[in-house]
Amino acid sequence: MTQSTPAASAPAWFAYCPRCATPMVTARVMDKDRRVCPSCRYVYFTDPKVGVGVAIVEDEKLLLVRRRMNPERGKWSLPAGYADQDEDPRETAEREALEETGLIVAVESLLDVFFNPPGQGGASIFILYRARRISGEPQAGDDAADAGFFALDQLPELAFASTHAAVARLLHG
Ligand SMILES: [Zn+2]
Repeated sequence: MTQSTPAASAPAWFAYCPRCATPMVTARVMDKDRRVCPSCRYVYFTDPKVGVGVAIVEDEKLLLVRRRMNPERGKWSLPAGYADQDEDPRETAEREALEETGLIVAVESLLDVFFNPPGQGGASIFILYRARRISGEPQAGDDAADAGFFALDQLPELAFASTHAAVARLLHG
């Protein structure tokens, strides 16, 4: 079998079959190169990484968090994080808002779902909810260096193209 160029769907680090421990090979399965067990035919399907964020607007001001870590350290983004395997994304949204800003929030509605092509790091699928504050005052926590509300027409420097896209979606519908 000829090996094609390494694809995101066939990561070489997936070396051994989790069922029978046989070394995995790369083979064409359902139109993509994937890691396959030649012994028991187990196929490793790569799952997209799912990020979830919240847009909380009060009095024409948007809640943002300042990044403590690289990449884009010091710039601002929406409170967001990765969905756990066993977590409703609405819970992810509320959990991340609490962890990063100290606010107890409630998800209200879905704003949009974004796709970020792989290779840029971060989530390939980003779910953005509109939410509202239940209680608390913005206070940086977790991997945030700062948190606060900013006037929509005077936003600070935003991190990531995905934050720009999300804010544009929020502002312009
Ligand atoms: Zn196997």
